Order: sequence, then structure tokens, then C-alpha cells
Amino acid sequence: MNALETYLTKLIKAQGPISIATYMGEALGNAQHGYYMKKDPFGQKGDFTTAPEISQMFGEMVGLWLGVCWLNMGSPDKIHLIELGPGRGTLMQDILRAMKVIPGLLDSIEVHLVEMSPVLREMQAERLKGLITPKWHNRVSDALDQSNGGPLLVIANEFFDALPIRQFQKTGDGWHERLVCLDEAEKLSLQLAPVAAPESIIPPALLRADEGSITEVCAIGENLLSEIAEYIQRHSGAALIIDYGHDRHGTGNTLQALKQHKYIDILSDPGDVDLTAHVDFQRLKEIAHICETKTFGPVGQGDFLKFLGIEARSQTLLANATDKQAKDIQTALNRLIHKDEMGDLFKVMAISDNGLSGIIGFE
Ligand code: SAH
Repeated sequence: MNALETYLTKLIKAQGPISIATYMGEALGNAQHGYYMKKDPFGQKGDFTTAPEISQMFGEMVGLWLGVCWLNMGSPDKIHLIELGPGRGTLMQDILRAMKVIPGLLDSIEVHLVEMSPVLREMQAERLKGLITPKWHNRVSDALDQSNGGPLLVIANEFFDALPIRQFQKTGDGWHERLVCLDEAEKLSLQLAPVAAPESIIPPALLRADEGSITEVCAIGENLLSEIAEYIQRHSGAALIIDYGHDRHGTGNTLQALKQHKYIDILSDPGDVDLTAHVDFQRLKEIAHICETKTFGPVGQGDFLKFLGIEARSQTLLANATDKQAKDIQTALNRLIHKDEMGDLFKVMAISDNGLSGIIGFE
């Protein structure tokens, strides 16, 4: 039993079963033993690889998108760029490099990184050294406070999928929350809460789902998006969210655990495996609309990147590449845009204030 399992076992013994959201929050973010808090999980030797780690072209396209937003805002003298969950800092590094081609943009940017992991903060500082001095924050609300009512750009790649979700299962007498408890051998296991949850928690479109269906609710992600959307509606700006997920509310258990690029049981080795769940983009859109911002997409990552010119960019890189580099560039391009790779499963959505026009990538 690892240290976090021991802690969770004691917690459940003391106070009873915990929600999957509490379990996920501890497994990923426990200050001492949380997955992101103690190591760098990315890359071939790690547990998973993200789009910016596959190729610089991804961050360059995102940088271009953000740059076009800035131009369409009338090139403000000062703009705050917030990245949620910057990982190794690779995406921000590529974004800033791409932004150099737009005169005046880098001089007007103040970068805020929302990152809970001290290990990853160090990596980000190292990677961005000499390019920019970012400000770090534990919470989005702190980054928004320090944006002082100025225009805002937000980027989040594979951030919302790491936020804790609750799960509910439909039974003959309503929706019961799935809870983490202890079995007879005191091992972590799942059971349904004895009392049904209030129906108001379940998306109305799913209330009539079949018995046995599971639905997921990510309250933390919803709150976070509404904070950002409210800021953008009041003070102007745009946000780009890229993640894997579905574009319509749906039922199904999407919580998964990855260790060294393989799926494993979600309750095994808490703190030593990555836990994620699909993002419900329809829900994020509904929230953005409640906050009176415009929304774009979601569209597949492949279509978005192609619209922004990733194929032309790869041709430019290929022109100066060795045979080995050329093969790597082709493979990376394929992974990012092909529908059997990340092209369809990963989705891109944007929100903006109502006054901003010329948002690209969503035709
Ligand atoms: N965007 C990066 C990393 C994605 S992994 C990439 O594409 O490569 C998720 C990132 O979000 C990590 O940096 C992790 O430490 C951070 N993170 C996860 N949950 C968080 C939370 N609740 N608050 C702040 N950062 C969080």
C-alpha cells in the first residue's frame, strides 16, 4: 500500500466513503503525495504525452491564434495571457516564439501561469528563462485578480480533463453517487451512495437515461469557466480550451487511469498514476452563454490546426530537415491532426466577449 492509499484508508475509516472528486483531487493534488506534485509525468518515459510535447507546430499555431485575437482587439498596449496547467512550459515557450512575428505583441504581454505543482513550476521557469518572467498562481481567481481589469487571453491545453469529477449512476429510485469506500479486506473499492442525489445535479438532458447509465459532473471546471467568462464579458478578451471530450452531453464512465502509457484500474496506486475524465464541452458552452460571452466550436483539433495552417508550417520545416527530422515531422503532424489519432478525439473551443470579431479556426 503506498502512502496516499494509507492516508485515504484512514480518511474513509474516520469519516466514511468519499466522492470520486475527493479521491481524484487527492490522487492528483495532495500536497505531499499527489501525482502532479512530485514528478514530471510527461513524455515517452513518463505516463502520457501531450500535443505540445509532440511538436513545436502545435504551440506555434496556438500562438498565432492568440496573436490574431490581440490584433483584432486593436493591439492593446497591455494584455494578460493566462495559461492553465502549463505542464513543462513547452506550449508557452512555442507560443511566445511564434508571437515574435507580430510586432509589438511580446512587449505588451504579461504572462500568468496557473500551476499547483512545485516540480512543474521549476521546469516552467527553466524553460521560459530569457523569454519572459511569468507570475505563478495557485488559482485562476488569483490570476484574474492580478489582471486588473485589463484585456485577457487564456489558453488551457489538457487542463480541464485533470479536474475532479463526481459520478452518478441511475437506478430504479434515481441517481446515486458513486463513492470510494473500503471493501471487507480494507481495499479501496466503489459503491453507490444509499440515498439518491438531488436531480438538480444531473444535466436535464440526461434525466431520462436508461437504468445503469453513469453521468459525470465537473463542478470545479464549471466554476472555473464561469469565472473566466464573467471576466471576459466585463473586461474583454478570449479563451481557447483544448482537451479530449465530447461535444454533447452524454452518459458513460470516462474516468481513466494511465501509467506508462497503459490503462490501469482507477483505484490502484493513487498518486502514482494519471487520472483524467472527458470534458463535457456542451456544458462549458452553456456556462459561457449564461455569462453572456460568445462561443466557437468545439471543432476537432485536426480541423482547427489545419485551418490555422499547420500543413504549410510543416512544409517549411521539412524544407530544411534531414531525412530523420523529416520523418519525425511527418509522424508528429499525423499524430496531431489525423482523425484516428488526436484529430477528432481532441476538441477545440473558444469563448470571447461580444465585441470581438475575427476569431479564426472554427469555420
Ligand atoms: N498543458 C500541458 C500540461 C497538461 S497536464 C500540456 O499540454 O503539456 C495538466 C497540468 O495542469 C499540469 O501542469 C498540472 O500540474 C496542472 N494542474 C492540474 N490540476 C490543477 C489544478 N487544480 N490547479 C492548478 N494546476 C493544475
